Amino acid sequence: DLHPVRRALISVSDKTGLLDLGHALAARGIELLSTGGSAATLRAAGLEVKDVADVTGFPEMMDGRVKTLHPAVHGGLLALRDNADHLAAMEAHGIGAIDLLVVNLYPFEETVAKGADYETCIENIDIGGPAMIRAAAKNHGFVNVVVDVEDYAPLLAELEAHDGATSLTFRQRLAQIAYARTGAYDAAVSTWMAAAIGETAPRRRVVAGKLAQSLRYGENPHQSASFYLDGSARPGVATAQQLQGKELSYNNINDTDAAFELVSEFAPSDGPACAIIKHANPCGVARGTSLKDAYARAFDCDRTSAFGGIIALNSTLDAATAEEIAQIFTEVVIAPGADQAARDIFAAKKNLRLLITPGLANPAEAALTWRQVSGGYLVQDKDNGHIGLDDLKVVTKRAPSEAELADLLFAWKVAKHVKSNAIVYVKDGATVGVGAGQMSRVDSCRIAARKAQDMAEALGLSTPLTQGSVVASDAFFPFADGLLTAAEAGATAVIQPGGSMRDAEVIAAADEAGLAMVFTGMRHFRH
Ligand code: 5GP
Repeated sequence: DLHPVRRALISVSDKTGLLDLGHALAARGIELLSTGGSAATLRAAGLEVKDVADVTGFPEMMDGRVKTLHPAVHGGLLALRDNADHLAAMEAHGIGAIDLLVVNLYPFEETVAKGADYETCIENIDIGGPAMIRAAAKNHGFVNVVVDVEDYAPLLAELEAHDGATSLTFRQRLAQIAYARTGAYDAAVSTWMAAAIGETAPRRRVVAGKLAQSLRYGENPHQSASFYLDGSARPGVATAQQLQGKELSYNNINDTDAAFELVSEFAPSDGPACAIIKHANPCGVARGTSLKDAYARAFDCDRTSAFGGIIALNSTLDAATAEEIAQIFTEVVIAPGADQAARDIFAAKKNLRLLITPGLANPAEAALTWRQVSGGYLVQDKDNGHIGLDDLKVVTKRAPSEAELADLLFAWKVAKHVKSNAIVYVKDGATVGVGAGQMSRVDSCRIAARKAQDMAEALGLSTPLTQGSVVASDAFFPFADGLLTAAEAGATAVIQPGGSMRDAEVIAAADEAGLAMVFTGMRHFRH
């Protein structure tokens, strides 16, 4: 099943590695065919290249829409080399066999990511490229198809190993990748189009991904797992650069994502902020006078849970913060930068993973989220809901003070990132109690208050940290009991969506307890 490579067609938008590949193929005596820009690049480096236009007898036309769509190309890719009829057709029409196709497509995904207009996106849909890729992949019995720059080296190694030929197994692997590439490409086009024409529930939908990492295991050791990239340029765990530490695990990736998305809610212009995550829920979030202060205050929310946690920072990690973080065991730190002194401090902590992102994520950006259910999946807009001061409706006799308002908005942002039922107590820009994932809201209120009490004892404080705090609830209080629990814990102000049948009852209870309460009119369920 070894098949020699004698003739290659190269047509690439991304010219990375093109010259090295061209030189290596030419050195093997492989004849090179190429399209306009690729041919020019190869020629400029002194390589002998034949223009596809000479093979087809047609110039590239219509702004490149038609370059390689011709029987002289597709016949050369599709002909079965062991079929007499196919060979006769090649002979009759002067079609030469093509044994290797190297194509990377017009950068459609990148064009969309740059926010290009409709026409520009349409022009960046490659037609001839996918057609050739699919043809070559179908004929993998004889033809090699390379769609990723990262496969240039393996291709050359394979040619070297088999004296200028490739094995069927190798070509099959390439063909599998090729179909995934054309599939992903059309998926990107179709997903973009749905958004561009405002189609929120398109009749057909596709998802695609590129393997980033084979994971050692999934959520548990008996589950195998892998990590795929969807091509989005959003700063986050998928696009971060890992500076040190072991490979991220499945749970690390999930938690790091939660941590970074949460901390991205806090603009650096409003000061340093830190989020500590355990099992996808925050166990401490705080602003501070410095990054170190923000970390210390986040840590003080729940020191017990923070052990082995994942830390996200909204600004460049500095030495003072790194030193503080290094005091206990932490799995991952993710930040939009780390200065050299901080890196040096972490270098001694071999197990600590440090991830650097190109900036923060934009919490207001529109995106889709997916959830698998048996037999299908659910798709929805990412929760990019945002509440400002103007959106708040004061419903109690007492209006919140300015300080309470600032904390209420802080608590609301955090609550958005806590699994429902979510209850978040905040004081002076730091969480002091988080109740997450309970099946009843009143339990979340109690748990958060209890944890605050435990922390006060651990810190040797006479009053629990919830004393004089504010509280956020991700959805309305169905009864007054949750609100009264919060009041008992010392909360003085409440933020919640409102909208319960018993709002009047809940408001009356708040007034009686002297609480100030605001309604957001927006809910932040997160399951
Ligand atoms: P070049 O830079 O060599 O001029 O163009 C390379 C690009 O053209 C590649 O991305 C390749 O997929 C694409 N391409 C090759 N043939 C065709 C065609 O017939 N139509 C279109 N639209 N694109 C093509």
